[in-house]
Amino acid sequence: MMNESDQHQEIRDAVRHLCTQFPDEYFRKVDEERAYPEKFVDALMEAGWLAAMIPEEYGGTGLGLTAATVIMEEINRSGGNSGAVHGQMYNMGTLLRSGSKAQKEKYLPGIAAGKLRIQSMAVTEPTTGTDTTKIKTTAVKKDGRYVVNGQKVWISRVQHSDLMILLARTTPLAEVKKKSEGMSIFIVDLREAIGKGLAVRPIPNLVNHETNELFFDNLEIPEENLIGQEGRGFKYILDGLNAERTLIAAECIGDGYWFIDRATKYANERIVFDRPIGKNQGVQFPIADAFIEIEAANLMRFKAAELFDANQPCGAQANMAKYLAAKASWEAANVCMQTHGGFGFANEYDIERKFRETRLYQVAPISTNLIYAYVAEHVLGLPKSY
Ligand SMILES: Cc1cc2nc3c(=O)[nH]c(=O)nc-3n(C[C@H](O)[C@H](O)[C@H](O)COP(=O)(O)OP(=O)(O)OC[C@H]3O[C@@H](n4cnc5c(N)ncnc54)[C@H](O)[C@@H]3O)c2cc1C
Repeated sequence: MMNESDQHQEIRDAVRHLCTQFPDEYFRKVDEERAYPEKFVDALMEAGWLAAMIPEEYGGTGLGLTAATVIMEEINRSGGNSGAVHGQMYNMGTLLRSGSKAQKEKYLPGIAAGKLRIQSMAVTEPTTGTDTTKIKTTAVKKDGRYVVNGQKVWISRVQHSDLMILLARTTPLAEVKKKSEGMSIFIVDLREAIGKGLAVRPIPNLVNHETNELFFDNLEIPEENLIGQEGRGFKYILDGLNAERTLIAAECIGDGYWFIDRATKYANERIVFDRPIGKNQGVQFPIADAFIEIEAANLMRFKAAELFDANQPCGAQANMAKYLAAKASWEAANVCMQTHGGFGFANEYDIERKFRETRLYQVAPISTNLIYAYVAEHVLGLPKSY
């Protein structure tokens, strides 16, 4: 089922091999315990996979986004969940593209060596949701520091990260010409911030995904932790989102193939009415349909990744790849569940777990409607609808 033109067989084989040490039982237990897959993440970091996109001069392997997406795909395809780690790939990218030389020298070697985690990015707020330019969290400069006040919601992996990228308003909305101006991004050292101006409240949720509400009460951040220029943070964040969307598209592709493999195997093995259920067109056609959708989405995923690696504009392709892949993986999840009948609901089959996990990507990091809005406005030239 692998893409014929795939150039990344060595990476696939190596990541697959690592993943064999973390079989279904491992992820099932982590899910049941609502725990973080510490050993799995440590193994990925030790093997250097999460430093794939860090340039060699900072100790990484200097692979591009395409290779990084293959790593994420293989994790999900093996039954794991890249949601525990994918932040490390794209948050590092924000630092790499927009950070100063001093910031890169300070953080990137530690990240590349697997000693420092930059798993979190805090953008979403409870009262403003997708309308990001209306965020209310503020960072006010005072005596060589920024003082942060406000609230964030759904901020993932904070309890398993050392660093977090924070988007906050540095100039009030009423004082900027364009609403996308006047926001800035910062590196927050979570080891220093939690308990000293930053409170973290976990949000129990559908998936075993560590995500939190954050409360900032006069959190002080050193001035040198500002990334890039003050007021341009929204642009820096947007630049990173194309990588995020493409990586998540690849995770959905991995999920999709996993669901198809499981559905196909079961449809061949399960005998009802004296024949394999897969002999019925009513069972095999939906599986074939879901497979076709995944294969098609996969092409857009590679297109987005290749454009990104060639430093070409890829906003439309990254958004469309994420849309197609999230839709295809969800369809495959449904088909897999249906093919398994009642057994799909049993935890020991892992289908209900992956079903919950893949559902997330129709909502986060950007919801389907907002992708339609992007394509309508930026690709088709229709009026902005919001
Ligand atoms: C498990 C999880 C992890 C997350 N991790 C992070 C993280 O690490 N960092 C972070 O910053 N955020 C994170 N998020 C937040 C996520 O990015 C948002 O939930 C998502 O962008 C949607 O925002 P919202 O929940 O505020 O929905 P809302 O903006 O309130 O939207 C609700 C619904 O209305 C629709 N809608 C809203 N406006 C329009 C419109 N104009 N036209 C058509 N439809 C519209 C949306 O499509 C959506 O379906 C996470 C979310 C979840 C669930």
